[in-house]
Amino acid sequence: MSTSKLTIAALAGDGIGPEVMREALKVLQAAARRFSLTLDITEAPVGWAGIDAAGDALPETTLALCRRSDAILFGSVGLPDRDPTVPKERRPERAALLRLRKEFSLFANLRPVRLPRELSHACPLRPERQGDGLDLLVVRELTGGLYFGQPKLTEEIQAGRRAVDTMVYTTPEIERIAHVAFRTARVRRRKVTSIDKANVLENGILWREVVTRVAGEYPDVALDHMFVDNAAMQLVLRPTQFDVVLCENLFGDILSDEAAALAGSLGMLPSASLGITSGGRTFGLYEPAGGTAPDIAGKDLANPIAQILSAALLLRHSFGLEDAAKAVESAVEQVIARGLRTGDIYSPADPSARKVGTHEMGDAIAQAVG
Ligand code: NAD
Repeated sequence: MSTSKLTIAALAGDGIGPEVMREALKVLQAAARRFSLTLDITEAPVGWAGIDAAGDALPETTLALCRRSDAILFGSVGLPDRDPTVPKERRPERAALLRLRKEFSLFANLRPVRLPRELSHACPLRPERQGDGLDLLVVRELTGGLYFGQPKLTEEIQAGRRAVDTMVYTTPEIERIAHVAFRTARVRRRKVTSIDKANVLENGILWREVVTRVAGEYPDVALDHMFVDNAAMQLVLRPTQFDVVLCENLFGDILSDEAAALAGSLGMLPSASLGITSGGRTFGLYEPAGGTAPDIAGKDLANPIAQILSAALLLRHSFGLEDAAKAVESAVEQVIARGLRTGDIYSPADPSARKVGTHEMGDAIAQAVG
């Protein structure tokens, strides 16, 4: 991948968004220095910050910036206690995030879940179930299935009301998400577990058929299939068996949250939502799995790692800069190994742990990048 200018829209949003974004940008700049990258980063308001600045959770100028950028580094949006008179379709969660997903056809959601051994205490599973630490990736289809299928309605009937949602997938929709899963598995441990309900659902049968066919193009990647109910169990019984977990939209929504719980804190979990690839670059939106955490905002308490690891995913998936992405991820690992902990991952039982704030954690990771 060329290392020409990387154009990035940085939308920090609300709550802890600006403070964790500041640290992620610091780390990106450190990676740029080490790998001689030219970054063109422009910050713009979104969420309540957008409403305050321009009366819109996704102001036109912010959207225009995203359109001329290669990738979006997103913080988080929404403050439940802000102005209840603003109707839900104008509130940030819908008017900003869902609109961006739709605008850029972000069909693939990637959620890596990593639990380093040093943070074993933060995981709800017993240590013997955690192996040498957890490391799996949920690849979720984001624009199809039950959430978008038509018809979708509630109607009056004689016996009361009747609600209909439609689960629908086409071959091309399954193919493109399967390719994302197999390509990603190639730079990991080369295993894909495809989740379906092929014993009951027509969609499940088609899903399994198409994924199996796509797997033929990746002979170096192992594929197995698992029914979703079993997958929900296996994630807590033996999570170390998974590398890449490939799911349709609804199953991915549920299983990615279950997997996220294994990492102990939302503050550690990045995500990527990818759209189409053109000219060797994949448009993507990268954001922490958590929200705006109003309870700790502005207090130097937030864990910036989810935002920093989101920046690593941006380097990897939008720009193909695997070395730079790995350098950021390994800087995070080093700092955790040295015992630095924000409050959400701190345990007083660990004598080597030292509690630090958002700012100090970001500084230490930027420094470790080199
Ligand atoms: P939340 O994820 O903001 O917070 C849940 C808990 O996790 C809180 O105790 C919080 O302090 C903690 N937490 C989250 N991120 C953390 C971090 N980086 N470091 C340390 N602790 C962290 O969820 P919520 O409280 O249900 O939602 C708050 C607001 O965020 C709502 O308006 C919601 O709609 C919005 N939200 C936005 C997004 C997004 O922008 N993608 C995602 C989820 C929620």
